Amino acid sequence: MKLQSRQVNGNGFSYPVELHEDLNGLKEKLASLKDVSKFFIITNRQIAGIYEKYLFAELKSLSIPFHIIYVKPGEKNKHIDRLKKVYHELVKEDADRKAVIVAFGGGVIGDFAGFVASTYQRGIRFVQVPTTLLACVDSSVGGKVAVNLDLGKNMVGAFFQPEFVYAPLFALSTLPRREWSCGLAEIVKHAFLEGGELLNRLESTSRKDFHSGAEVLRYCIDESVRFKSSVVEQDEREGGLRAILNLGHTTGHAIESVTKYAKYSHGEAVSMGLMTALLLSKSVLGFSETNIERAVKMMKALELPLKINEKINEIIEHMDHDKKKEGSTLKFVLLEDFGKPKFGVSVGRDKILEVLKFQKGWDLLGR
Ligand code: ADP
Ligand code: ZN
Repeated sequence: MKLQSRQVNGNGFSYPVELHEDLNGLKEKLASLKDVSKFFIITNRQIAGIYEKYLFAELKSLSIPFHIIYVKPGEKNKHIDRLKKVYHELVKEDADRKAVIVAFGGGVIGDFAGFVASTYQRGIRFVQVPTTLLACVDSSVGGKVAVNLDLGKNMVGAFFQPEFVYAPLFALSTLPRREWSCGLAEIVKHAFLEGGELLNRLESTSRKDFHSGAEVLRYCIDESVRFKSSVVEQDEREGGLRAILNLGHTTGHAIESVTKYAKYSHGEAVSMGLMTALLLSKSVLGFSETNIERAVKMMKALELPLKINEKINEIIEHMDHDKKKEGSTLKFVLLEDFGKPKFGVSVGRDKILEVLKFQKGWDLLGR
């Protein structure tokens, strides 16, 4: 059953992000694509192990052939070295320009399969079936696809939009706990950037409300998709405004990097980074103490980590490698207030050091 749908519009493209109860209905969506020679499902065995039978049921009732390509799970396998094997499998399985790729998984699968689609024979159509909260609210919206190099994440990629996104809500019932943090941190980010009703709703919600699959989950997915697509519509290629979506990510990426992507999930690191951004906003833009308190309370109720445990110098060193670097200051996305973001704000090292030290010693938070 279709629960809700949002249209993502941009320069020369328009596609729906649909939230469905389960996979019943995917068949109709796939059948609506014209002139398809074969479907290529890109997924991993973890997800397939749980959901393959439902997927097969949908695909088998279509009269179009399909083939499943399994890739290894995890960010480290979203690597440029993994592409060749997949391209070869496509060739061997007769993928022509009318083939359609179905990305069936989380953000890693979506980025990787999307990149394959954007390059195979100069681009073939693809659709996304996100199975994680992060992919539903963030990575499946906006058309960024990429693979990693040894020397950096998402260093090779494209802007490539799917035909549609079909999010099956039931997949979230098996999502590991830490994967929930990933999606929740991005939802919180959207709420900080937008303020208003989404923020109010999150403030009266705890983590267990999300796990119990309450209406708030659907509301937050819908609002997040709406918010992110409105930003992408205004600035598809990150010439300006889209940069606000990096809120919390300068510090988040540095923490992920310092801990070699092993200690925290992306969402946990971003969650700490969001708090750094708010504290810097207070120090630089006069963001209020009351707002900080509201954010702390809300993020604690969502069981997102706030306290930094890593060495401050190492974090700052990694920030230096960040794209937003310029001279002796670093550029951040900060907030004047909830709903009032500013991007490209220069912040001196002394201020960053001060805030990170404060956040590290923040025992009161217990996180
Ligand atoms: P992927 O794109 O490979 O799913 P992600 O990093 O986005 O990778 O997902 C994180 C992990 O959660 C992966 O190990 C993935 O296999 C697993 N996963 C994704 N969706 C689900 C789900 N609905 N239920 C259980 N595990 C899932
Ligand atoms: Zn993120």
